[in-house]
Amino acid sequence: MPNSNSNESIFSQLEAFGHKKVVFCSDPDTGLKAIIAIHDTTLGPALGGTRMWAYKTEADALHDVLRLSKGMTYKAAITGLNLGGGKAVIIGDSHRNKSEALLRKFGRFIKNLNGEFITAEDVGTNPRDMEYIRMETQYVTGVPESIGGSGDPAPIAALGVFMGIKACIKELYGNDNLAGRSVIVQGIGHVGENLVKLLRDENAKVYASDINEDRLGQVAKKYGAEAASNNIIFDIDADIYAPCALGATINTQTIKKLKCAIIAGSANNQLEDEAVHGQMLLDKGILYAPDYVINAGGLINCYSELMGFSKKRSLQLTENIYEATRNVLKLSKAESISTIEAANKIAEKRIDDIKKVKSTY
Ligand code: NAD
Repeated sequence: MPNSNSNESIFSQLEAFGHKKVVFCSDPDTGLKAIIAIHDTTLGPALGGTRMWAYKTEADALHDVLRLSKGMTYKAAITGLNLGGGKAVIIGDSHRNKSEALLRKFGRFIKNLNGEFITAEDVGTNPRDMEYIRMETQYVTGVPESIGGSGDPAPIAALGVFMGIKACIKELYGNDNLAGRSVIVQGIGHVGENLVKLLRDENAKVYASDINEDRLGQVAKKYGAEAASNNIIFDIDADIYAPCALGATINTQTIKKLKCAIIAGSANNQLEDEAVHGQMLLDKGILYAPDYVINAGGLINCYSELMGFSKKRSLQLTENIYEATRNVLKLSKAESISTIEAANKIAEKRIDDIKKVKSTY
């Protein structure tokens, strides 16, 4: 998780990120130390996962939750969902410090927000944890399918990425068929494996890479992909690079090496620096599908769960990612701006437009 190098006051940070509300939750009895950040609720209640992480400092935790919650505002806005942006972090080691009591206490803090914030799972939390939160509040999604939840979001997230890749292919080559195209999938975990399947079903050549060698061997064999060692992936001459593991893999060093025409994957915060590396990709002529535009499938699943889960509706909304990506690419081309800047503009415009609707009657 990124470190905060900010000595700024809390209120200056809230002002800089544009937050509406931040709640600090403390309960010595259960050891709960959490921060809930509500960035913007113009479009609807703020929805965002709860991350449990052993942050080095409280400043790092605050910085992370502010950054992530703002990202959720943009993701919901560009996906056309009626949701605002929020996120929560629980400070602690998810293997050692998690308990039913801590999670239920956290659930009560969410309950007190009366629906302004709705949570879901994230790094360090899982559907079982959401079940505990659900014991105290209805404002939680991502609960197990057996109790009416939407289940594993990874297949839907992978479908969204697949749609984003297709939109990029269409932009560059005039049709969106993946047959004969080559794709490097970095990270073949929950989302990556589902993506490999979709790509292979359409006869794309797939180079798969993962630090988990056993998993890599199994997945490559199962889908007929070529296993590629992690340290050579930037040397492979492929059409598409799909980062599906970690953030910040696109930076000054890797952009110099990249040979692909398109970057489109599920990992969050792929650009080490949005402005600098977005521009570098534009200058180098690499088409970048902004991560938050194409990895919104998980959020769509949560949204659908709130509306009374329908798989059909989730799939429809996820397929719209194709059009959303096309719109971003069009604006980027028309205004000669990076694709991330174009995506931000579209998201901000939707929020501004709806703000005007809500200020009138
Ligand atoms: P995961 O933990 O199931 O899979 C990640 C995989 O990446 C693992 O197999 C891991 O071994 C591998 N990995 C880790 N470091 C690596 C490295 N340096 N090089 C190559 N492989 C590496 O996670 P996931 O649920 O598949 O999510 C993948 C990414 O997509 C994450 O960034 C996540 O935030 C993002 N995302 C996930 C969802 C979802 O629904 N799961 C939705 C939106 C975004």
